[in-house]
Amino acid sequence: MRSMVWFRSDLRTHDHRALSAACAAAGNDGVIGVFLLAPVQWREHDWGGVKVRYVLRTLRELSVALAKLNIPLIVERADTFADAPEVLAKIAARVKCGAVFCAREYEVNEQHRDSAVEARLARDGVVFRAVDDQCIVEPGAVRTGEDRVYTVFTPFKKAWIRVVEERGMVPPLVPVSKQARLDIEPSPIPDSLPGFDTHVPDDLWPAGEDAALARLRGFAGKPLTQYKHFRDLPAEDGTSRLSPYLAIGAISPRACLHAAIEANEGKLENAAANKAGQSTWISELAWREFYKHILVGYPRVCMGRAFKAATDRIEWVEDRGHFAAWCEGRTGVPIVDAGMRQLATAGWMHNRVRMITAMYLSKDLFLPWRWGERHFMRHLVDADFSQNNGGWQWSASTGTDAAPYFRIFNPVSQSRKFDPSGEYIRRFVPELAALEGGEDGAIHDPSELPELARAGIDYPRPIVDRARVRERVLAAFKGVA
Ligand SMILES: Cc1cc2nc3c(=O)[nH]c(=O)nc-3n(C[C@H](O)[C@H](O)[C@H](O)COP(=O)(O)OP(=O)(O)OC[C@H]3O[C@@H](n4cnc5c(N)ncnc54)[C@H](O)[C@@H]3O)c2cc1C
Repeated sequence: MRSMVWFRSDLRTHDHRALSAACAAAGNDGVIGVFLLAPVQWREHDWGGVKVRYVLRTLRELSVALAKLNIPLIVERADTFADAPEVLAKIAARVKCGAVFCAREYEVNEQHRDSAVEARLARDGVVFRAVDDQCIVEPGAVRTGEDRVYTVFTPFKKAWIRVVEERGMVPPLVPVSKQARLDIEPSPIPDSLPGFDTHVPDDLWPAGEDAALARLRGFAGKPLTQYKHFRDLPAEDGTSRLSPYLAIGAISPRACLHAAIEANEGKLENAAANKAGQSTWISELAWREFYKHILVGYPRVCMGRAFKAATDRIEWVEDRGHFAAWCEGRTGVPIVDAGMRQLATAGWMHNRVRMITAMYLSKDLFLPWRWGERHFMRHLVDADFSQNNGGWQWSASTGTDAAPYFRIFNPVSQSRKFDPSGEYIRRFVPELAALEGGEDGAIHDPSELPELARAGIDYPRPIVDRARVRERVLAAFKGVA
């Protein structure tokens, strides 16, 4: 039976379960790939130009990789998810497919879309099969003794490790083989879509699965062994930068775990001092899976609601001026401004600085955390709803296993600790380049400099008085406790 693979956030050919299932079902009848461009829906979901351009570039690579297997990739427009059932049904009829395979997506709108697609295809006698492929352990499968989804990371991770071990660690990566040529031409893929512009240079994020696998190979050696030491230092290139590839499935999470386990003597956790990097990185892969589990266990987080329902009663301060200063990287707090400018120019921000900037928005500025969440979604090349929402709710103390509301980062102390030389700040806030680094250096807080020393520096004073931050946060959270 000729089969179709509907690609969504799984833009690769290696270790792709839906693709391999489609090949097995199709036999000699052949497989066709399909991708639907959904610009109207993407805008509603706050996809930005940087992500859309990256997806389009990845699609080109995918089309080439599929063509090597003689699988044509058809790319068509279905502006919203509501259009998907009809568009897919028409394609299936045109290319005479009896089955559609895809990798399951877990967000609420995506699940509704898939149910509608399944029902529409069934009317034409076309089978719809969604398989779990986005995670190492499918979301919802790691459960507490009371059959619930974990809401705290550490016990989740222990249980996740147990499940992975019980299943024999990482299943073998699934292969795909070349099929006979079909008489169907691949579609052209647009370079860009109107309204999704970006200034982020393409060469910062080479697209496609070959680039992703090369990056994994490069990282899985020495950088992985040093990960624990360097991962929190934003001036260092100490993390894998695989997040954009994982977010759109240009790399399989199993391939990542495979490489990490191989470098970790076959283990998920390893107490040996020289294996701390590997074990810590595996923990980060587990964080990704934790937030996917939260999405499935608590779909309200998909509907703009806080995980801790009471915190929805907090009256955040809707100060547009402060928000603009935060977005533009001119809050007067160098580490925050450096992070926001990294986001604007690279479409990516180091994890430590994501935490600092997010906590600064939600605690120091006391702005609605959803404003920050939306801004990140629109500007991150690795924008992923579950990870972004999880990170924001953690920082705003409204989420699962969140930072307690009374433990508020002091951004200047964070800067002194994690960017001691000031190198990261200097890179993104060049107007401060001449200031001294070192843990006591003025680069971390130029507002402390005497007026005269500040005279030649075109840099704003801090937009909020830190002395008052704690009081306002404690009062607001206690008020809804
Ligand atoms: C406010 C906020 C927003 C975030 N938004 C996103 C987002 O939209 N998309 C996204 O992929 N990540 C997001 N993260 C998580 C994290 O910052 C990035 O995954 C990480 O910086 C990516 O860099 P890397 O690939 O070099 O990570 P590495 O350190 O090499 O980690 C490997 C992989 O593990 C996962 N991972 C690492 N750290 C985390 C974490 N803290 N939480 C969940 N998964 C993690 C990622 O998939 C990452 O690619 C956010 C974090 C915060 C605090």
